Amino acid sequence: MRFDVLTLFPEMVEQFCNYSIMKRAKERDVFSLNVVNPRDFTLDKHKKVDDTPYGGGAGMVLMAQPYVDAYESIAQADNTVTIMLSPQGEPLTDKIVNELSKVEQIILLCGHYEGFDERIRDIIKPREISIGDFVLTGGELPALCLIDAVSRKLEGTLGKIESAEEDSFSNGLLEYPHYTKPREYRGLKVPDVLLNGNHKEINDFRYAESLERTKKRRPDLYEKFIKTSS
Ligand code: SAM
Repeated sequence: MRFDVLTLFPEMVEQFCNYSIMKRAKERDVFSLNVVNPRDFTLDKHKKVDDTPYGGGAGMVLMAQPYVDAYESIAQADNTVTIMLSPQGEPLTDKIVNELSKVEQIILLCGHYEGFDERIRDIIKPREISIGDFVLTGGELPALCLIDAVSRKLEGTLGKIESAEEDSFSNGLLEYPHYTKPREYRGLKVPDVLLNGNHKEINDFRYAESLERTKKRRPDLYEKFIKTSS
């Protein structure tokens, strides 16, 4: 898997991938990261990447030429998906993350300020993805959310110890609660069933907790789960 990220702030993206699980996965070549700065593709001596909006209004708009040229400088594999991070995109879900984990290359376009000149969309025709109904200052955090979530699905990123198999959403439910040592903390005890070594009882308990949690916290997911499993 190769990620190419178009961003005006390359260090933000590079730094994130230099820690913990992401760092190890990159070192093991589970994925590679290439960061491209549209500022390096400007044609004027001031390296201008944004300008005021036609029609007036607040904020600066990212100019089409540096973004399109930066995008076109990236060599594309046969199986490449180009994604524009945008609050106007389809909401990112585990299903989309699974789909994306099967492609060879993902090109991510990070916006900033007021966002992109519309012609960047018209020319590149990216898939647009949002990480939620709120607005951030830039597309770097959303791009990193996507890189992190997709990388977790790639073989070799997570060791057995960090397995994603039972994570929330993987079977349509939220995950059950976890406990570690000590057995009692501030009067709160670890449920007895987790200490008895009976794997069937432990699995039944976890499944029941998972169902209960999902019903309470995410009735939308619960309804869907019940419908598809009946
Ligand atoms: N004016 C734009 C609008 O109202 O739709 C918002 C621009 S936002 C301040 C700047 C950039 O941050 C966007 O171009 C996008 O790349 C990124 N961004 C902000 N919120 C986002 C979200 N919820 N999901 C994905 N990207 C987001």
